Amino acid sequence: MLRVAAVAPGSLGERLGLTRGDELLAINGRELVDFLDWEFLAADEAFLLHTRTHAGDERRLDVERPEGLAMGVVLEPPKIRRCNNRCDFCFVDGNPDGARKALLIRDDDYRLSFRYGNFATLSNLKDRDVQRILEYRLSPLYVSVHATDPAVRRRLLRNPKAPEILPQLEMFAAGGIRFHTQIVVVPGVNDEAVLERSLADLYAFGAPVLSVSVVPVALTAFSRFDLVRAPTAAEARRALGAVRERAARARTERGSGWVYGSDELYVLAGAPFPPAEAYDGFEQVENGVGAVRYLEGLIAAQAGALPDLAGRHVLVLTGTAMGALMPRVLEVLERITRARFECVAIENAFYGPSVTTAGLLPGAGFQAVLGARGDGRGAAAGVDLALLPAEAVNDDGVFVDDVSFAAVAAAAPMPVRLSYHFTDALGAEIAG
Ligand code: SF4
Repeated sequence: MLRVAAVAPGSLGERLGLTRGDELLAINGRELVDFLDWEFLAADEAFLLHTRTHAGDERRLDVERPEGLAMGVVLEPPKIRRCNNRCDFCFVDGNPDGARKALLIRDDDYRLSFRYGNFATLSNLKDRDVQRILEYRLSPLYVSVHATDPAVRRRLLRNPKAPEILPQLEMFAAGGIRFHTQIVVVPGVNDEAVLERSLADLYAFGAPVLSVSVVPVALTAFSRFDLVRAPTAAEARRALGAVRERAARARTERGSGWVYGSDELYVLAGAPFPPAEAYDGFEQVENGVGAVRYLEGLIAAQAGALPDLAGRHVLVLTGTAMGALMPRVLEVLERITRARFECVAIENAFYGPSVTTAGLLPGAGFQAVLGARGDGRGAAAGVDLALLPAEAVNDDGVFVDDVSFAAVAAAAPMPVRLSYHFTDALGAEIAG
């Protein structure tokens, strides 16, 4: 059963009399279990919809969808499928007290993998899930492979019952499903020969495996360190070597790099990022693969639309990972806008200094840096605008430590904006 959270004005849902709190029970006699059923079954031009109003009245509606009219029904959020693994590197275990509630959910949900590109291990699939993936053609799926050797993978997942991943991928591939995959590299467990074998096995799949990202394990000060530790620079270089070798072969044989090291892997290895073309359309940019090159490309593409900000001073707050790379990006922005950009890299006091990504910086960290830029009378000392990484807040505008962006902005002595790529935040008027 699904419940309606909202109905858009003027939509077909409104014409049908659906309102918030109504239950959507079945379409053409098929029970509606979650948003996938709704989206696939309600996509037909005509169907029989069985509902129950929040007053308890059951209704059977003959729906005919006029062309171009959206259903306009927003569903209540789905119940997240929980993970049955216990990886030592699980980010959930790496959270300190006070973390935003949603960060404490161990999700492993093939539905979110299809919809949002969240990585799933597929280790908790029931027969019914398999059927749905095939029937609805949920493709591409984003799959955490980590290792194709079943014993190594089970050890990493700490799940002795995890099904073998290669037969699973084979079965889905036969049904037309494609995959973007990732390997989180844990030194001494799935690197070196295991990594090479995993890449060879996935490569042998051919077209169904669309891409592989190789990402060094990320740990916080609160992670369990029984099985895992951060890779050394030499280990990162060896992993990158395996990536480069396989990517060179893939480019010759298949015309794309196919396997990509995450930005973090390059940083750890002390290696320069490859050029933007090497990322083949940035398929895994959300996984930190090619994020810097992607950002540079966005700025270059938007250059003509950026305003002249001569004489303005823009403060850019980021994590320590981007801190070292930012000057190069900001130089370009300075040339285009004639503003002065100052970057402050904030060490993560919430998760510990090993967490370097801007997206996991706590609101309190931003508050402290911005507050220190005040002139003591509530105004900013020489800063016209501060830009905070938009990926650090969730959809409700809340940072990892449950501090809201609204609270940070209200306390700051200068205007503050969230920004993904600068060009999205520099168009509007800046106080001078
Ligand atoms: S698969 Fe591992 S890392 Fe992912 S949620 Fe489960 S335990 Fe955590």
